[in-house]
Amino acid sequence: MDGKQVHPNRSMRIVCPNCGNDQEFLEVADGVILTTRYIQNDDNSFTQEGDDSQILGEIRFYCGECNTDLSQYHQRFFEMLF
Ligand SMILES: [Zn+2]
Repeated sequence: MDGKQVHPNRSMRIVCPNCGNDQEFLEVADGVILTTRYIQNDDNSFTQEGDDSQILGEIRFYCGECNTDLSQYHQRFFEMLF
């Protein structure tokens, strides 16, 4: 134990190969149907009940700085999303 343990997944930081950006990223989904379910309450106000949105198309992943297509890293991004 040397106190410098690195979580195996966190050692794989995503870095844009084009501009070196490792902070800002864009996720772009095609063909999205945004559906949000609301319940009308007794006092006529509304409460959001659920989000039934569907993504029909492809999800792309881009560098937020230079817009390079980083979709090959999208799975890794998804695993690190909390
Ligand atoms: Zn970039």
